[in-house]
Amino acid sequence: MPLPLPRHNQPPRMLRLKDGLKDGLGRSITYLRVSVTEQCNLACVYCKPRTGALERAEPPAMSRNEVVQAVQVFTSLGIRKVRLTGGEPLMRRDLETIVAGISPEVEGRVHLTTNGVHLARRARGLRDAGLAGVNVSLDAAERGAFERLTRKDGFSRVMAGIEAARSAGLKTKLNAVVLRGWNEDQILPLARLARAEGIQVRFIEFMPYQGNGWGKDQFMPAEEILRIVQEGLGIPLEEEPVVGLEEGPARIFRLPGGEGKVGVISTLSADFCDRCNRVRLTSRGELKACLFGNRPVDLLEPLRNHATHEDLARLIRQALTEKLDCHPMRRGQVPDLADGMWQVGG
Ligand code: SAM
Repeated sequence: MPLPLPRHNQPPRMLRLKDGLKDGLGRSITYLRVSVTEQCNLACVYCKPRTGALERAEPPAMSRNEVVQAVQVFTSLGIRKVRLTGGEPLMRRDLETIVAGISPEVEGRVHLTTNGVHLARRARGLRDAGLAGVNVSLDAAERGAFERLTRKDGFSRVMAGIEAARSAGLKTKLNAVVLRGWNEDQILPLARLARAEGIQVRFIEFMPYQGNGWGKDQFMPAEEILRIVQEGLGIPLEEEPVVGLEEGPARIFRLPGGEGKVGVISTLSADFCDRCNRVRLTSRGELKACLFGNRPVDLLEPLRNHATHEDLARLIRQALTEKLDCHPMRRGQVPDLADGMWQVGG
């Protein structure tokens, strides 16, 4: 059952009829990523610094009602798809309730990004709550490499989670961040897994932010990843036409002889900011117009202080006027982020 918005921040009917949310550069913003927690049960080498931030106590996250209320404001303005992320979203026991509250707002287009460790026992419940699909982060197809990258065990549980998500009928994809010197030897095993299982694996370029140990030596561009797949499998890759922004910024290639696909997300080597359709909401209720480079705008305090729908809509529209035309890495800068990816949600 969707949770009703309190009367003071219900959208006026006319606003719901308006066509969409545009940023300052005229890009249509239709996709919202919501981080529901900063907690994570893995400690991936490219995401969480080993010390400091790991020990920092998490500030109180938005309650499930606040998540749903915030999402309702966004959907009333034109957001059509929501992805729940984190931290690790399955660390929240009330995730199913959050999904059930959001799903009707986006006609079922609610998705989840997870490390999959707790997915096996929750996949069916999440589907029943209205979840449409899940992206599982899996940077290695072999246990040893998985443990080196995540600094934890859990490989078998993740594999069981992927299986459970697929048998529950959730649209399931895999995401792998590639770091030279860490898991480039996993590119081919992951591509073979995609082919054998008829699933989509998307390789993501390693992105820098302060404290995550990024260096040019570890960076592997999408073109090189594709070359490794093509030469290793000994087959031509057939690129799928881009159908729309809803499918995200990945370039997708069919693996001949089955349903399997590989994709690449070239955040750095060929950025796609000109096609950006997304904004992010952190678990602290801060709106981030861009992953890197924008001041966050607090929506939680106004929400808690009974701001009207118009006030919240104004804050959101104002934040979107500041959305950047491209990210700082294009100018060769490593973003000076106070927040890590586990706080912003990827
Ligand atoms: N815990 C969940 C998971 O593992 O998918 C959700 C949060 S995680 C921060 C979201 C995504 O961000 C994951 O696919 C992760 O691999 C990606 N990510 C984190 N740090 C990254 C980095 N430095 N470069 C590229 N992707 C990164």
